Amino acid sequence: MTKTFETPTAATDSLEIHRRAIIVDMHADTTQRLVDENVNLETRLPDGHLDVARAREGGLDAQFFSIWVEPELFGGGGPRAIKRADIQIEAVRTLAEKHSETWELATTAAGIRHAATNGRIAALMGLEGGYAIDENIGNVDRYYQMGVRYMSPAWSVSLSWAGSSGDEAGKTRGLNDFGRQVVREMNRLGMMVDVSHVSDPTFWDIVNTSTRPVIATHSGCRGITNVPRNLTDEMIIALAKTGGVINVIFYPEHIEPGWSEKKKKVDAEIEPLVRQASETEKGDAAHKKLARDRVRAAEYLKRLPPVSVARIVDHIDHIVKLVGVDHVGIGSDFDGVQAVPADLKSVADLPNLTKELLRRGYSESDIDKILGGNMLRVMEEVEKQ
Ligand SMILES: [Zn+2]
Repeated sequence: MTKTFETPTAATDSLEIHRRAIIVDMHADTTQRLVDENVNLETRLPDGHLDVARAREGGLDAQFFSIWVEPELFGGGGPRAIKRADIQIEAVRTLAEKHSETWELATTAAGIRHAATNGRIAALMGLEGGYAIDENIGNVDRYYQMGVRYMSPAWSVSLSWAGSSGDEAGKTRGLNDFGRQVVREMNRLGMMVDVSHVSDPTFWDIVNTSTRPVIATHSGCRGITNVPRNLTDEMIIALAKTGGVINVIFYPEHIEPGWSEKKKKVDAEIEPLVRQASETEKGDAAHKKLARDRVRAAEYLKRLPPVSVARIVDHIDHIVKLVGVDHVGIGSDFDGVQAVPADLKSVADLPNLTKELLRRGYSESDIDKILGGNMLRVMEEVEKQ
């Protein structure tokens, strides 16, 4: 099937459509920059993927900040994991309080709409990995009360109660009784359950346990890019049946076929450089990680093939063909990855995504849904008591 369009004013139209939409990004790791690098998001930053100036240019209306506890650095549970989550939450809350001209802390779809109407960016939070729950069901409510509105049970390291797609244990580990209890508690409170990073058995246990729509905050399609972090067609169909949304990640490794294999080769080549950067850095473990990631980002840019925004839309198309336009959204993973598409280098380039969607024949109402409308619907559904 070929589609032709009359496009004399396509550029303006796409920008107008983009500006009118409420744009919700389900996942960015800028939180760790706030804590570890003390960055001031109110100034235009020379590095990274997100600050206020670039968010304004990109038309961003709502950002879910990832509250991410790296288990190897901060523990897969226990007081250090809890503290690491808590200081990130505090950083997001402080950002919104100190810069209320820019940000509005939000926990609901209505909060996002309110911020957008008032020309502010809604700041929301999601827990990436359940390490800070510390195997205590009471902590789910504690984080809900602190403003967290989604949680993925596991990041790249499996827990006793939930398997990860990133390690050996996850290959056979789903949710145990406690894990299912966590999902039911999230349903009760109105906290969305995120399947990004979980193992396949955990995915199925979540979908079979949750009575509310389930989401993937930053994932792609295994049908296009066969990596364990992505969802199979069967999973996409099952997730859509819950009423949920798959938010497509922008990270080349998860969207570009073959990129992951090439990256593994490059990782082996640059290992001495990465190690040297880590050893030279005199700061704490988090700063050593930053030093390693800076080298990786520079080397990936030099050594790996560029990826384009069109590839993101390939994943969106794939999901739309499987389950329709009501079950797809966006989750950039900005500031959490060491590579980004060449034409989506930061949040400022988000209009390029809308341009490509329009070029592929999506209507304005479809684009509204993809950029944020579908997630607003899910949030409203999950908020209902
Ligand atoms: Zn992630």
